[in-house]
Amino acid sequence: MDIEKIRQDFPILGQTVYNKPLVYLDNAATTQKPRVVVDSMQELYYTVNANVHRGVHYLSARATEMLEQARERVASFIGSESAQNIIFTRGTTESLNLIASSFTKAFVKPGSQIIVSAMEHHSNIVPWQLEAVRAGAELKVIPVDENGNLLLDEYKKLFTDKTVLVSVTHVSNVLGTVNPVAELAQIAHSHNVPIVIDGAQSTPHMKIDVRAIDADFFVFSGHKMYGPTGIGVLYGKRELLEAMPPYQGGGEMIKHVSFEKTTYNELPYKFEAGTPDYIAAIALARAIDYMDGIGIDAIEQHERELMQYAMQRLSAIKDIRFIGNAAHRSGVISFLVGNIHPTDMGVLLDRLGIAVRTGHHCAEPLMNRYGIPGTLRISFGLYNTIQEIDSLIAALDRVIPMLS
Ligand code: PLP
Repeated sequence: MDIEKIRQDFPILGQTVYNKPLVYLDNAATTQKPRVVVDSMQELYYTVNANVHRGVHYLSARATEMLEQARERVASFIGSESAQNIIFTRGTTESLNLIASSFTKAFVKPGSQIIVSAMEHHSNIVPWQLEAVRAGAELKVIPVDENGNLLLDEYKKLFTDKTVLVSVTHVSNVLGTVNPVAELAQIAHSHNVPIVIDGAQSTPHMKIDVRAIDADFFVFSGHKMYGPTGIGVLYGKRELLEAMPPYQGGGEMIKHVSFEKTTYNELPYKFEAGTPDYIAAIALARAIDYMDGIGIDAIEQHERELMQYAMQRLSAIKDIRFIGNAAHRSGVISFLVGNIHPTDMGVLLDRLGIAVRTGHHCAEPLMNRYGIPGTLRISFGLYNTIQEIDSLIAALDRVIPMLS
């Protein structure tokens, strides 16, 4: 990978902040966008903008065709059997809320049990809690060990004849743990229970094959993988999506409407009420092309080197405590140093041009598990460099003595 050439594709990275070169290590929150993605959005607005699916005129037909091509592109990117299994949403959060709402209406009864894990983002906890309260269902939680691994034996013990669904993250946004999702799916399926995989933190970093995982649902956000904000994806197996009622009502999700009875459109439109963000969906396909152009394997290899180098340099810091030491990790490193509050460290690092994230990372139950208020998290993108890690370490060497 020619990183210097790649960095030229991301104009934002060339900035200075507080007169220091920007070192952007907050990619798990959102990634920066390459020129091709941003330019494509401008070009689409200038040349093909028209509402999709409804018009007989040229522009509408062209916009519709490009939206459907984007759906095909997303389908091939994650190994979906068909583009009909791909529903565009606003992001991972909306995808999870959609599943929670519709799946619950179709399949959850009083007393039903839904399994999540202790390392979930709030967006894979709260939608289930909201629905569980409504339906009289119960959440069960797969525990994590000290290193940030899911306890598989405990997971197996959680299943009962009341279990209706498992929903777990592919990669933890705090610990970086890459969960053995194919194995989790196989265990769920041995109990005839479907599984939702939250791919928000895996799609930017590794090859995804929903059929190899045998995921019943797989969700992710465009903005975390070099695409625009406001667009996300929900993949679902056809038989489940067919059995679930629509999430929202409105235009395009219907076949026929009368005051007596409304019939719903076929997949995927049944779940896409209203005007979709077709510009963002098409730009997401450009982001996928961009990642594919570099090569997902090359991205993975590059980020692995960054991770190894960062771990080696960080480990030399006195009193550092890593939160998450799983054998299989990707994307993020979370840590604390002595008794220093992570926010204090983050604020001072910012003044040196280093953008990191601090806090609970929308995973409060996980913070409670480790008895900590939060962490300092660095997270990698395909454009980060070894020199940037050296800058981070040099900045930490200045900041830590100031706060100790
Ligand atoms: N799931 C995980 C694991 C995440 O890291 C995030 C965002 O950080 C989300 C879900 C929510 O994603 P979004 O805010 O794009 O909907």
